[in-house]
Amino acid sequence: MADIIKLLPDHVANQIAAGEVVQRPASVVKELLENAVDAGASSIKLIVKDGGKILIQVVDDGAGMSATDARLSFERHATSKIQSAEDLFNLHTKGFRGEALASIAAIAHVDLLTRPQNTEMGTSLKIEGSDIISQEVAVSPKGTSIAVKNLFYNIPARRNFLKSDNVELRHITDEFQRVALAHPSIAFQYYNNGSELFSLPKANYRQRIVRVFGSRTNEKLVPVQEDTQVVKLSGFVGKPEFAKKSRGEQFFFVNDRFIKSPYLHHAVLSAFEGLLKQGTHPGYFLYLEVDPGSIDINIHPTKTEVKFDDEHTLYAILRSAVKHSLGQFNVAPVLDFEQ
Ligand code: ADP
Ligand code: MG
Repeated sequence: MADIIKLLPDHVANQIAAGEVVQRPASVVKELLENAVDAGASSIKLIVKDGGKILIQVVDDGAGMSATDARLSFERHATSKIQSAEDLFNLHTKGFRGEALASIAAIAHVDLLTRPQNTEMGTSLKIEGSDIISQEVAVSPKGTSIAVKNLFYNIPARRNFLKSDNVELRHITDEFQRVALAHPSIAFQYYNNGSELFSLPKANYRQRIVRVFGSRTNEKLVPVQEDTQVVKLSGFVGKPEFAKKSRGEQFFFVNDRFIKSPYLHHAVLSAFEGLLKQGTHPGYFLYLEVDPGSIDINIHPTKTEVKFDDEHTLYAILRSAVKHSLGQFNVAPVLDFEQ
């Protein structure tokens, strides 16, 4: 029998990978914002049009890229962030797969403009469906601007599957808020169809949370702080009387990365035991700093899941720290007359 196995051409492999990394415009926003953070930006601007279907642009004032790196950044498994398998267990960056830009470029029109600090001229690069259309020496501010246009232009099934502009915009706003809350020392701006949705100056954690969720948030926050060998915990929980019927403002960040954890969520809830009206959910903004070697985030391409080496200890620390804070701030149980 003749041999029938062939290696997929790069652009096909990229499209397949894109299916995992890019579900919707918000996925592109997440990847671009994280790249800007990794580039050490002090100010990041997000510009979208029509819920990101027409345009998603992220402009940063970070490290920028050389002409060669600009080209390479769109190759699959091309990354400046890790070099060996061991590095996976000592991650200090958001990215490490080297897949995002290759995936995005496979399913959109991409314009890149970038300049590292120490060079006079920058690079402009245009890519369509993995093909480099043009590369030129160009005048550019320091940093990087990546514009992603017409997402899924070459995958009609995926494009048709997108929800209304408003729904897609809401997902983008969620991603924006997660990154902005994780990095208060970076200034952010966010525009949709020319109007400003957020303008966040450099701040501390409390100021950033209040700026994102409104000035009335300030009085609702109870600080949480705990320093152990396993974890350095900081942040805030919402006072029980402000707990809401809807879920929502519940955020865990592990080493500055937003994560979802039903297990840790349960730890927080259990600390609120007896303090909440039935059917209400407390808000929380909890920042965990752990040894990068004690977690695994290489579980899913979107990296919102984390495996902790010692999750039972984390659970106990979290629960007792939140309980302690609620007690210290003299939070009385809510009398629930409905019961
Ligand atoms: P990863 O972030 O996993 O390395 P990406 O595909 O997101 O993979 O990016 C590939 C590479 O392109 C990065 O490792 C980085 O060197 C470079 N890069 C991407 N975005 C930026 C940016 N905004 N500023 C500077 N370099 C960038
Ligand atoms: Mg990346």
